Amino acid sequence: MAEKHVYRFGVGADGVDATELAGETVDVSKWIVGGKGANLAEMARIGLPVPPGFSITCQTCVAYSTSDNTWPAGVLDEIDAARVDLEGRMGKQLGDPTDPLLVSVRSGAPFSMPGMMDTVLNLGLNDVSVHGIIEQTGNARFGWDSYRRFIQMFSGVVMGVDGQLFEDAINAKKAEVGVKLDTELSADDLEDLAQTFKQIFAVNVDSHAHPEVTVDGRAEFPQDPKLQLRLSIEAVFGSWMNERAIIYRKQNKISDELGTAVNVQVMVFGNKGDTSATGVAFTRNPADGTKEFYGDFLVNAQGEDVVAGIRNTEPIADLKHVEGLEEAGKQLDEIFLTLEEHYRDMMDIEFTIEQGKLWMLQTRVGKRTAMAALAIAMQFEKEGRISKEQAVMRVAPSQLDQLLHPQFDPKADFKVLTKGMNASPGAAVGQIVFSADDAVHCANKDQPCILVRWETTPDDLKGMVAAEGILTSHGGKTSHAAVIARGMGAPCVCGAEALRIDARNKEVAVSGTDVVLHEGDVISINGTTGDVILGAVTLTRPELTGDLETILEWADAVRVDASRGRNIGVRANADNPADAKLSRDFGAEGIGLDRTEHMFLGDRKEIIQSFILADEPGAKQQALGQLLKVQTEDFLGMFEAMDGKAVIVRLLDPPLHEFLDDPRAYAIDLAHAEDRGESRIQLKARRDMLARLDSFQEVNPMLGLRGCRLGIVYPELTEMQVRAIAGAAAQLKKRGLNPKPEIMVPLVSTVEELKVVREQIGDVIEGVCEQTGVELSIPVGCMIEIPRAAVTADEIGEYADFFSFGTNDLTQMGFGFSRDDVESAFIPLYLSKKILKANPFETLDAGVAKLVKLGVEGGHEANDKIVCGVCGETGGDPDSIQMYYDLGLDYVSCSPYRVPIARLAAAQAKIVSNGGAKKRA
Ligand code: PEP
Ligand code: MG
Repeated sequence: MAEKHVYRFGVGADGVDATELAGETVDVSKWIVGGKGANLAEMARIGLPVPPGFSITCQTCVAYSTSDNTWPAGVLDEIDAARVDLEGRMGKQLGDPTDPLLVSVRSGAPFSMPGMMDTVLNLGLNDVSVHGIIEQTGNARFGWDSYRRFIQMFSGVVMGVDGQLFEDAINAKKAEVGVKLDTELSADDLEDLAQTFKQIFAVNVDSHAHPEVTVDGRAEFPQDPKLQLRLSIEAVFGSWMNERAIIYRKQNKISDELGTAVNVQVMVFGNKGDTSATGVAFTRNPADGTKEFYGDFLVNAQGEDVVAGIRNTEPIADLKHVEGLEEAGKQLDEIFLTLEEHYRDMMDIEFTIEQGKLWMLQTRVGKRTAMAALAIAMQFEKEGRISKEQAVMRVAPSQLDQLLHPQFDPKADFKVLTKGMNASPGAAVGQIVFSADDAVHCANKDQPCILVRWETTPDDLKGMVAAEGILTSHGGKTSHAAVIARGMGAPCVCGAEALRIDARNKEVAVSGTDVVLHEGDVISINGTTGDVILGAVTLTRPELTGDLETILEWADAVRVDASRGRNIGVRANADNPADAKLSRDFGAEGIGLDRTEHMFLGDRKEIIQSFILADEPGAKQQALGQLLKVQTEDFLGMFEAMDGKAVIVRLLDPPLHEFLDDPRAYAIDLAHAEDRGESRIQLKARRDMLARLDSFQEVNPMLGLRGCRLGIVYPELTEMQVRAIAGAAAQLKKRGLNPKPEIMVPLVSTVEELKVVREQIGDVIEGVCEQTGVELSIPVGCMIEIPRAAVTADEIGEYADFFSFGTNDLTQMGFGFSRDDVESAFIPLYLSKKILKANPFETLDAGVAKLVKLGVEGGHEANDKIVCGVCGETGGDPDSIQMYYDLGLDYVSCSPYRVPIARLAAAQAKIVSNGGAKKRA
């Protein structure tokens, strides 16, 4: 069968439902007609009032865009047939001089990308049909307002004319007739404006670039509705690749390859008088999950007026109390319940009431904060609508990061400067900036900032990403700022009406006070309460309690349930008792990586330096003795904090020069000393020291004297560390505790290295056992972080009780990229050129995954009891965790704050891989 490019939906004026589903479920059809198209069809199918229309598929967008914006054969005919069919069903035609049909043209990708792509409304109006609308509605003002809006939108979206030109013309008109508000302009004024707008079109559209709208060498606003429609569809397709859409997709890990569908739908009007209205709503509170209808509406307005925050909106709960809207308001409440029952989730809705009649313009699974996601998943489970397993699948692990974000310290003392709406929870502190560019600039300098705007627009996205938090003076809880901030997990306070923002002069006055703040002044915002505070409030990390704790318990129950498949454990990377305790509180089942080099910082640095630089054995021995003492204390703390749980201690890994002073700085000191004329003896000592410092420098330290090579060259270091580990374990055992250290050898490349080091480790442990009289059984394993080790894992595994995949090094060496050098130098370029799909240091690369696979298989071949884990950065990344589950790893290990995220991701990986629910978008 030939590919179908257009799908119809909705009941026409003839009462016939023409809905054609693109797939059996929304989850299937959204890939074809996008989320909006799939849900419009679904709403129509379950009998909800949806203005009829048709959707052009995402695949058409991809085919059109990838063939240099040419239409695939036959598609324009299919669209034309759908238009003719729609006109037939409505008994009206686009452009008709007496009773014209008007349509909207909207984008709709498989994943919602709110406000990122383009829309054209009121399409079908022209110089003639505007009179038809006026005649039908008996409302000249409405007719001319609709036409001037259409010209404005079409010019901007389709032809790229600067929107400010139209705003300037509106302002000039208001000044001319002496009014303040757009709503005060008369029908005649708006008719004049429509003419002016057409002039703006004629002057600003390049007739050479747009021959299709050129008449006698001059651009002319197109009067043919079929041409209006084709050009608008092309523009919406084109908006898939606009800058903000690309940024949004990158941020939300949405593939550029999907394309957007286009929905052409009969227009309904919320601006036809006081019995008309428009609004956006959620079936539950998307900020905190409270079970309540949540959203805003505006009487006598068009949809974009709500989202744009131009007029302050009214709460949705009041809708059914507005005269003339009572019935529609009650029907909407019922529809909320129907939608929740049907989709078994919290839904987000756009609706319009046209002269008392309710129309549903959109629904989708509502975006929510992590707090709300947890609360809603729990409520739905309690209401018996979803299982615990489904509840676990409902929360995106990466979202949990929001909850682990800072909050105001409950003990902090502060005075609230002003209040806005609590649009997106969490707290932020930073200096005020007034533009997206300035926010990016601050972030590049590592300076936390708060983006302060009258209201945000899609063009502010990069600044919203860069800022710690967002504060606006206008707009409701469904305004652009609120929706985007919630999606990103950024704290947001919106609609703080006391703020008088003067972005041009970079200052904001707070009415009712004499406070005037300037760019760079530090403020704090609390998106959970709506508070705005002058100065920096101390922030704290929250604890795992309430809904989060419960969902994680459910996730853990799934993980350990042997009847549902293999478990994957979660450990933490920690190297001090405080972090070990924190990770334990967050549910870590052990320490997967204790980087002992981190124990040699601060005042320890001098001791290791004196070991490295000592030129006679006595001094070296003395330094080792001191190190043994402090390391033993370190391990006592670590093992005690993790009593009863495995602690993998990795022997020293970095090249020794990392502990030493920079020889260049030392050379400068030497030159100064020479200038000062220091004594010959003193200068000789300095020169000797410089020579020694130089002798530790390496051209490529990543590949140099580090890892197990260090322990082979300096066996006394290994001996000291193993003695400290075993000694600490013996002491704790004597105290009745249950320490479970394991010793990990870093950067092994050949089995011979492991053999040598392992033998030495065994001897030292034996010695400690003899000395202390305590029986110790300490597993010894190694990191697999060099490609050679991965491919010879079948040999290495014979001498290892466990493998831990170090994907930081494995990625560096697998790719031949040095992380520190490439991450800023060219990875962003590689991502934008799609040479890489994701940053391989964040998400396990498929090629590196093959090395891990070889390593796991080889290890098991050699030793069927071998335990395999991962301790590189990717161990805390939800997408990578899915891959690790499928690769057969026994656990992942990540930083303490990622432990809750990893617990949830690990449970979801298990559910997905064992045929349970699919992962949610
Ligand atoms: C690794 O290489 O993945 C690893 C955990 O070691 P480090 O980051 O300390 O080199
Ligand atoms: Mg490493």
